[in-house]
Amino acid sequence: MTKKVAIIGAGVVGASAAYLLSKEDDIDLTVYDEGTGQGTSAAAGIISPWLSRRRNKKWYHMVREGAAYYPVFLSDVMEGEAIPSSVYKQVGTLLFKKKEAYIHEMFAIGEKRKIDAPEIGELAILSPDEIREKVPLYSGENSAVWASGGARVDGGKLVELLLSKAEKNGAKVVRQHVAFNTVKGSHQYAIQTEQSTEQFESVILTASAWLPDILTPLDYAVDVRPQKGQLAEVKLAEFDTQDWPVMMPEGESDIIPFEDGRVIIGATHEDDKGFNLTIDEDMLDDMVQKGTTIFTEELRSAPITQYRSGTRAYTSDYAPFFGEVPELPNVYAASGLGSTGLTAGPLVGKCLAESVLGLPSTLNEADYPIWNYVKKKSRDNC
Ligand SMILES: Cc1cc2nc3c(=O)[nH]c(=O)nc-3n(C[C@H](O)[C@H](O)[C@H](O)COP(=O)(O)OP(=O)(O)OC[C@H]3O[C@@H](n4cnc5c(N)ncnc54)[C@H](O)[C@@H]3O)c2cc1C
Repeated sequence: MTKKVAIIGAGVVGASAAYLLSKEDDIDLTVYDEGTGQGTSAAAGIISPWLSRRRNKKWYHMVREGAAYYPVFLSDVMEGEAIPSSVYKQVGTLLFKKKEAYIHEMFAIGEKRKIDAPEIGELAILSPDEIREKVPLYSGENSAVWASGGARVDGGKLVELLLSKAEKNGAKVVRQHVAFNTVKGSHQYAIQTEQSTEQFESVILTASAWLPDILTPLDYAVDVRPQKGQLAEVKLAEFDTQDWPVMMPEGESDIIPFEDGRVIIGATHEDDKGFNLTIDEDMLDDMVQKGTTIFTEELRSAPITQYRSGTRAYTSDYAPFFGEVPELPNVYAASGLGSTGLTAGPLVGKCLAESVLGLPSTLNEADYPIWNYVKKKSRDNC
């Protein structure tokens, strides 16, 4: 029997779940996405979770497995054809530290983590001249840690690819803001667009920072808050940047080269701006200057061709969650993926799709407990 399933929110998590569910013959799938402020299409695109001092083991497990899943997932999506390098490419990562001791510390962390994460690839400490062989515009005097398995992804193009494949498999994509509700006396759920209301047996809520808007009217307290992220794109017209690695200098700004001389610099982490998406050009110009001090003038004064702004979702303890919404059987949600949601996204989408299909989840749900962050208020008051 065909099961009617809806997904609200088609960033990387919802679009990944959509692609996977669209392959199932007995699922009738509708995807709703409004799109304003979407984190995924604003994101910088770094997939390189290994060289970090963050100690949360469950978070690390999620992002490590998420990074490992990317090439596997995209090969499946491409059905044997090459993964478009404009969407995803393993170009390697360079991690810079001012102090030589930190370089060695991060290299040692990488060596230890490589045992469980062979996808980290070749690990090395590169001298300034070796760095210049990969990125001719490097003018610094410090060495850097190199991990060849690091990748860059264009979040917007990834979502487009996944949704187009899902549509080809028969899913409907509705680009509208929707409201979600229960249906009295039934096990179905109602999704309301401007024009109509439709009922579904199972719903995935992948609405990121907007999850509280969806669940608060149903008397839920949702521990998720928005964080604004802005970045700048510059153009290096004279350089072939497609194979340049992702660069992570010390400080807030990373440098992510894409094809055609496009280089992303960013991003900001602004906790006090709510859902405001206004571009602050002065702030971003300053960020580009501060983030490129170890590069030559060609990068430092490259023309800025685009500014972008989007919203990340955080929980109060910075931990991500997913699973079945308490007291709403067959409704599943994920959020709180923060600044590594692009990395974890396809895998979390897979886990949600598995839940809808009644399959065991690839990640252990108890490690990312939704019930800590999504609580029915009346129940809470008992
Ligand atoms: C500037 C920036 C840089 C980043 N860089 C990186 C990076 O380098 N590496 C990394 O791993 N992560 C990065 N991230 C984080 C990552 O982008 C996010 O964590 C991830 O994209 C979240 O995906 P998501 O699918 O949960 O949510 P989103 O991509 O935010 O998608 C949620 C969607 O739900 C829709 N929606 C919500 N409510 C409704 C409704 N009622 N009706 C219809 N639609 C609705 C929204 O419009 C939106 O399109 C970055 C984020 C930002 C902002």
